[in-house]
Amino acid sequence: MRKLNGENVKLAIQKEGRLTDETLNLLRTAGLHFESYKQRLFSACRNFPLDILYVRDDDIPEYVAEGVVDLGIVGRNLVVETQQPVDELLALDYGHCTLTVAVPSDSDITDLSQLAGHKVATSYPVATRRFFAERKIEVEVITISGSVEITPALGIATAIADLVSTGSSLKLNDLVPLATVFESQSLLVANCKLGENERKAAIVERLLLRLRGALAAREYKYIMMNAPRAALPRIFAITPGLKSPTVLPTADPDWVAVHTVVREDVFWEVIEQLRLLGTQGILVSPIEKMFI
Ligand code: ATP
Ligand code: ZN
Repeated sequence: MRKLNGENVKLAIQKEGRLTDETLNLLRTAGLHFESYKQRLFSACRNFPLDILYVRDDDIPEYVAEGVVDLGIVGRNLVVETQQPVDELLALDYGHCTLTVAVPSDSDITDLSQLAGHKVATSYPVATRRFFAERKIEVEVITISGSVEITPALGIATAIADLVSTGSSLKLNDLVPLATVFESQSLLVANCKLGENERKAAIVERLLLRLRGALAAREYKYIMMNAPRAALPRIFAITPGLKSPTVLPTADPDWVAVHTVVREDVFWEVIEQLRLLGTQGILVSPIEKMFI
């Protein structure tokens, strides 16, 4: 069996679950070459001093805090719940979800305070207890490891606190949200003493540059268009680009070519406005890597 290289930085990721595909994609977009297939315990990157370990997500905060691994990619929900001391290096913008307090849609309860004296079922007892204690609402928190959303129907609890992303699982179980305990997304976390190892800290800095490049590229699109010269000031106002758009002359003195980047989240609004300003021949392409 191949052994882990003690010199390499070790990164723990979820072996199989909701975070796995996006995590592997992100690492590959960041230019890391490695093999990954089921049953694998770890893989070494061929082109970077990094070993990737595949584990259950619940174990990642503890492994990182204890120094079993140097880095982990895990939902903020588990960092909050396990209360393990780790450094949060980078938010990765996937695995978005909220720990949500919900009650059956036919319940009389419309306000959190009405839950006083009632039972709340959750897989996140630490965060849920703290949430109610901070609001001075006395509830009995019942810890359930799976299928929390069916506990009100079974008469086990009046309310639940469960992870929600689209809300479809709440709807399916006739539950309505009452409050948000916390918001979560996937994070890159590090052992708190990582900085003491200069060599490893330098490798992690290189990894961060790559990950940031991959994340920024996902956030933006590159667009090119032909625009009436007179419309330039208004185009600049709509698409400020990173510093400032590139403007190139065309054979027609009244027209210019404009190259710029647009954020994915406002992309369609920007395209609509550019069309109204008389731009033509808009070309859009994905960005592979981007360093701001
Ligand atoms: P494991 O076998 O690794 O313990 P799991 O079943 O506990 O896996 P998953 O359901 O795969 O975990 O969820 C992994 C992470 O995905 C969660 O910890 C959370 O950060 C994130 N996530 C995003 N949306 C949701 C959701 N709707 N429900 C649960 N987790 C979600
Ligand atoms: Zn888990």
